[in-house]
Amino acid sequence: MKACKQGAISPDNKGLVNRDLCIGCGECANVCPTGALVLKGTKMTVQQVVMELRKDATSYRRSSGGITISGGEPLVQYDFTLELLKAAKEQGWHTAIETTAYADGKVIEKVLPYVDLALMDIKSMNPEVHKKFTGVSNEIILQNAVRVSEITQTVIRVPTIPGVNAEEEDILAISRFAKTLHNIKTIHLLPYHTYGENKYELLGRDYLMKDVMTLTPEKIQALKTVVEGQGFECIIGG
Ligand code: SF4
Repeated sequence: MKACKQGAISPDNKGLVNRDLCIGCGECANVCPTGALVLKGTKMTVQQVVMELRKDATSYRRSSGGITISGGEPLVQYDFTLELLKAAKEQGWHTAIETTAYADGKVIEKVLPYVDLALMDIKSMNPEVHKKFTGVSNEIILQNAVRVSEITQTVIRVPTIPGVNAEEEDILAISRFAKTLHNIKTIHLLPYHTYGENKYELLGRDYLMKDVMTLTPEKIQALKTVVEGQGFECIIGG
């Protein structure tokens, strides 16, 4: 393979991509002799996305279904997300968004009125734990959670990770916070799994969760009981 102009791929690194140097130009995918590097995704306009979605419009109408915008974080590209949501509403489709709500409050105010259902992650009520494992404070997220729940129907989702936020007191704190929000009925517990591990390897990234065990069914049940004890419906997964 031709050398990457950025020096992001070197034989000394077994051909793995150094993400600190990679600018995401995709040139390596064009010249990779084994086909191991593949450029995924297609650049599309909002209109092109809507045309694609319209192919399933009949089933949306029959099933009262709609679209869910997920990510990454859809509020990072909020201009595109907003235009897509508006277009979906013009088509009469139900709209959902998967979000951490880590965004400027003005973005929340602009985008959420076009969302019928917000599936909102809350990972930890502990600011230090949140910062350590996500790289950012939970302050903005918790502030935005209030506004999100006021604007639209909201489900709280908790990715539960042993050693981070999977003790009963962690889930109790999140459930108590959810009680302070507007009209939350359901909390989803998303048990940690290791399905993404090989992707990190393929991307040349360190998988920092190598030593984390998955939750036992008994432990998951105990966490579910905590959520239900606070008056919420609890769904495992979702
Ligand atoms: S996408 Fe490929 S060619 Fe482009 S900078 Fe990254 S590693 Fe180099």
